[in-house]
Amino acid sequence: MPDQGFSGGCLCGAVRFSSSRPPLIGRACWCRVCQYLASGNASISIIAESVAISVTGELAAYESRADSGNVIRRSFCPTCGTPLFCEAVGESEYKVVRVGALDDTELGRPQSIIWARSAPSWGWCDASLPAATTHVNALESVREKAT
Ligand SMILES: [Zn+2]
Ligand SMILES: [Zn+2]
Repeated sequence: MPDQGFSGGCLCGAVRFSSSRPPLIGRACWCRVCQYLASGNASISIIAESVAISVTGELAAYESRADSGNVIRRSFCPTCGTPLFCEAVGESEYKVVRVGALDDTELGRPQSIIWARSAPSWGWCDASLPAATTHVNALESVREKAT
């Protein structure tokens, strides 16, 4: 992972965000909800410290209960629909940032895979990465990376 902050925004430019701190880890998630968001693929996201992230522009949000049982708030641009952030409600220390919205998508290389069991048979999972069959929350992923 890079040792600098990152920035990004949505497709239409109405929402911009930046982080003064670097991403902590990159993940690919094959949960069924992510397949809706990512056009049938895994979602590719980085996890970052919420306190370091600032956002300009209006966000819309949709909350739903994830396969993990957690209520997840997914934020997106109300104009162009670009997925931007996601976080577990009540667990706001970390934000999951959608790599498609980063200015430099090179920063988003996944270092682990979650919900691998929900991937379709044709879904590509990098066999060199650690893969969890189901959910690993953001905090656990960050801790695993640090050990
Ligand atoms: Zn937009
Ligand atoms: Zn997912």
